[in-house]
Amino acid sequence: MKPAPFAYHAPATLEEALELLDRHGFDAKALAGGQSLVPAMNFRLAAPAVLVDLNRIGGLAGVHPEGKALRLGAMVRQRTLETHPLIASHAPLLAETMPHVAHVQIRNRGTLGGSLAHADPASELPAVLVALGARFRCRSVRGERWVPAPEFFLGLFATALEPGELLVEVELPPRSARSGWAFDEVARRHGDYALAGAAAGVRLDEAGRCQSARLVLMGVGEGPVTIAEAGSLLEGQAPTPDLVRAVGEAARVGVDPSSDIHASAAYRRHLAGVLARRVMTRACTRAGAAGLGGT
Ligand code: FAD
Repeated sequence: MKPAPFAYHAPATLEEALELLDRHGFDAKALAGGQSLVPAMNFRLAAPAVLVDLNRIGGLAGVHPEGKALRLGAMVRQRTLETHPLIASHAPLLAETMPHVAHVQIRNRGTLGGSLAHADPASELPAVLVALGARFRCRSVRGERWVPAPEFFLGLFATALEPGELLVEVELPPRSARSGWAFDEVARRHGDYALAGAAAGVRLDEAGRCQSARLVLMGVGEGPVTIAEAGSLLEGQAPTPDLVRAVGEAARVGVDPSSDIHASAAYRRHLAGVLARRVMTRACTRAGAAGLGGT
């Protein structure tokens, strides 16, 4: 199929893009990597009258430190998230996750901002950015605001972005000493959207007690699902196999997945428990916890 007719604009500045998006309102869509939007247009699931291409705007694809934080432009390609040395040292969780996202050809074009704005519940990046405690800079002709990642994702393909607003930058908080991370997922074939996935981040103190623990699941709800019990069970404690098992069980009972042609709700719930236990074990071990065994 071919898309419905549309007008195409390729502005050279962010201000021009914001002005176009404001002028055309709901009729306009931003074009980033095109890896979700273009297939949707070809299937006529989306038919924007106006496309505003972000690819010629300078300054939207930077990777730079801001104090101890790291800032990533919305147009940073997914392949860059996988290979950039600064990202690998600041947020190794991202580098570990990216090979699970689609195929390398898609990651060469697909962008960080496009994946977050698209907010597919089976996408890896929304869950990982929530687990990392990121915040998002959003801009429109009316000004700019910072939105914490958990408040950005509102549900199935829904975000806090308002009409005419663009996601322009993502800020990753400083990486702490004695921190650990892990991502894992189950997909039917490599490169397919996952049936379920899990991202974990933990920080231990000098004595090996957990200072903070975050666990976020994907593919088992309408967006990234944070399992708050990971924090309440682990924080203040030295991680043990029993505690990590309890986190897995909290994830299993805490999600409400749907059935579809790929997997039943019961199977996805089972995966949530297994993946939660697996990533939490790996994250705690990487942070320096001993005696947790394999995954
Ligand atoms: P686009 O397709 O250009 O845009 C997507 C949406 O976001 C559009 O509505 C657009 O208007 C909006 N948008 C884009 N940028 C911005 C911005 N800066 N501000 C506001 N709105 C914006 N993804 C996964 O996560 N996991 C997978 O396993 C996976 N598998 C895939 C397999 C295939 C075969 C294909 C074709 C895609 C797959 N994807 C997967 C999707 C891929 O990761 C896309 O790159 C991503 O979802 C969208 O990014 P994009 O830059 O291509 O955005």
